[in-house]
Amino acid sequence: MEKKIVTRFAPSPTGFMHVGGVRTALYAWAWARKNNGTFILRIEDTDKAREVEGSIPHIIESLKWLGITWDEGVDIGGPNAPYLQSERLSSYKKYAQILIDKGYAYADPYSEAEVAAFRAEAEAEKRAFLYRDHRPTTTTPWDGTTSLRFKVPEIKSYTWTDAVRGELSAGVEALDDFVLIKSDGYPTYNFAHIIDDLEMGVTHIMRADEFIASTPKFLSLYEALGIVPPVLVTLPPILAPEGNKKLGKRDGAKDILEYRKEGYLSEAMVNFLAFLGWNPGGEVEIMTPEEIVEAFTIERIHKSGAMLNEEKLLWINKEHMKRKDSASQLEAIKPYMSGYGDELLMRLLPTIIDRINTYGELASIEESEFRFFIARPQTEVERVLFKDDEPHVALRHLTKVKELLETADFSSPEAIKATIMPYAETEGKGNVLWPLRMSLSGQEKSVDPFTICYVLGKDEVFARIDAICHTLRS
Ligand code: GLU
Repeated sequence: MEKKIVTRFAPSPTGFMHVGGVRTALYAWAWARKNNGTFILRIEDTDKAREVEGSIPHIIESLKWLGITWDEGVDIGGPNAPYLQSERLSSYKKYAQILIDKGYAYADPYSEAEVAAFRAEAEAEKRAFLYRDHRPTTTTPWDGTTSLRFKVPEIKSYTWTDAVRGELSAGVEALDDFVLIKSDGYPTYNFAHIIDDLEMGVTHIMRADEFIASTPKFLSLYEALGIVPPVLVTLPPILAPEGNKKLGKRDGAKDILEYRKEGYLSEAMVNFLAFLGWNPGGEVEIMTPEEIVEAFTIERIHKSGAMLNEEKLLWINKEHMKRKDSASQLEAIKPYMSGYGDELLMRLLPTIIDRINTYGELASIEESEFRFFIARPQTEVERVLFKDDEPHVALRHLTKVKELLETADFSSPEAIKATIMPYAETEGKGNVLWPLRMSLSGQEKSVDPFTICYVLGKDEVFARIDAICHTLRS
């Protein structure tokens, strides 16, 4: 039987989730789901100094928004609980003891000042500072008041296979006696993740490329413990929009929940993140989360950096928005369109969807572009006149348009257009359509007058035309 695929997302609770973190979670989740495997949410909270309060609920909310669900994890427990590293100290102690017993770990005997002196000496001699050059000759038992260091069993170069990058290698300089457990009792990332992945049965580690440099250290520790390492899957860096530079906070590495606030759809976000460093091949660019899971393969994860392009995100969002049925579109726009009424909104819906890339954009354009549909405009006569037309000309055209509309089919903007256009074409489009648009909307720029007629409905159209005609006559 094939081994069950187990992946994990193991964020440190050091602040909000940004695009890079969520992308890692998404790939690990997709790979587990694709293989009917297990996806674990583990929190790596062993660096107490960097911890930011509220991060864990924030991580959970971000993943939930995107529909990234876990089978075991910090909030739901599971067979390998606990999933919070600070609650797993006994596991780390157990493996630390195994290493001590094998002679692969030692109590760090040096004070900070002594280490600083070693470092200064190495610098003066223009060589790299390595702890392993200063291994104590006599070892004192580790009592937990100092840090515990790994004693790299064999100083050698490593070559290993990364599932994305292929064959990687590093020389002996990449190996050093790193800290396993700090003097505060907490393990380092380098140690803890290896123990956790082992105990949780993790088969694939998806993570950022910043961990490649430490991989020889990890490999050495895996060997010391006799562990077969999981498959290492290094994800491509996410680059700032200008390219060639890793994404930093100032380039838009923003809180993922900001996108929700801005009115992005979660499935559009998932689609966008999935394509930041992966694609299924072919032309398809719009995919649902289910389709992404179905198509997901590690082989198609890119080696090189993926540029964060928010224009692309807008486009993807619009495409997902367009594919929604009108009932859910209506629900989504309603919070931004209070006072419009469902019937009118249903008629206005195609216009709105056409106009926006995210529902959130409505917050800033609802009043200026759509409010006239529910609030009759107060339009001065001069603005109704096309160029230097006299009031009686506008009056004549509006009267005629109203007459045509009496018997018109109001079931679509096209039907209304078919009724008015022949007349407008004979009389001059501007001369007819300008006063019509102005009397209905009071706006020089708006959606076309046929759509306005359709959305407003016959009674309201006539009321607005009548009001303007009345002013034109006086
Ligand atoms: N806690 C690490 C981080 O947040 C996770 C790295 C990993 O996935 O192993 O960067």
